[in-house]
Amino acid sequence: THFGYQTVKKEEKAGKVAEVFHSVAAKYDLMNDLMSMGIHRLWKRFTITLSGVRRGQQVLDIAGGTGDLARVFAREVGATGRVVLADINDSMLKVGRDKLIDGGYTLVEYVQANAECLPFPDNTFDIITIAFGLRNVTDKDAALRSMYRVLKPNGRLLILEFSKPIFDPLAKVYDAYSFSVLPAMGQLVTQDADSYRYLAESIRMHPDQQTLKQMMENAGFYQCDYHNLTGGIVALHRGYK
Ligand code: SAM
Repeated sequence: THFGYQTVKKEEKAGKVAEVFHSVAAKYDLMNDLMSMGIHRLWKRFTITLSGVRRGQQVLDIAGGTGDLARVFAREVGATGRVVLADINDSMLKVGRDKLIDGGYTLVEYVQANAECLPFPDNTFDIITIAFGLRNVTDKDAALRSMYRVLKPNGRLLILEFSKPIFDPLAKVYDAYSFSVLPAMGQLVTQDADSYRYLAESIRMHPDQQTLKQMMENAGFYQCDYHNLTGGIVALHRGYK
């Protein structure tokens, strides 16, 4: 594979991920719409609904990128609430910050941080979300433990991520789409097929629904469940502290 992804050393992964997101940041939103045919908007809307967000709450969106979730959270929590958009990658963070400020969302806070070691005190947030971010994190168990630590008791974590299609025929079509259409589209729009090859590979490597649920439980979350979206191409996991 392009990055020798199957054999790449753990410590090299972070460098590859950084490379990918520096490269795609400027065209990230356009590519998201093209690749998912706009459906990522519905997946994100469902995430907001299941978050149960209310006025005055404190929300952390990890791997927040260009701010799709943070923007809606900012509207929902109002001036008495707090929304923090955290991302490890300063290119993505800058695109997100510019977009939100241009849209009039001036109260969102931006923090450059690694999900594995979140720089917040214990028991800070009512809601934590991570959308299409966890599969890029090198040590997912450490990230889940870190999220658990900064979540308030009774707070909830929502993980929106690519998962395993639940029907075999869909899995085959989807695999073909990921490994041929996505890189071609990436090449056309961003002149960067490799980053989109990485994307397809990272989706294939990501833990399936049950495994991720178990990982959440191992990190201490309770009442963990998940919803398959679009036939399991994506799943939304939820758990409480
Ligand atoms: N959440 C946004 C969305 O759904 O559109 C952006 C998702 S984008 C596919 C993945 C993001 O994860 C990138 O912005 C990347 O920089 C960020 N990321 C990768 N590894 C990370 C880590 N270890 N900690 C925090 N963010 C990370």
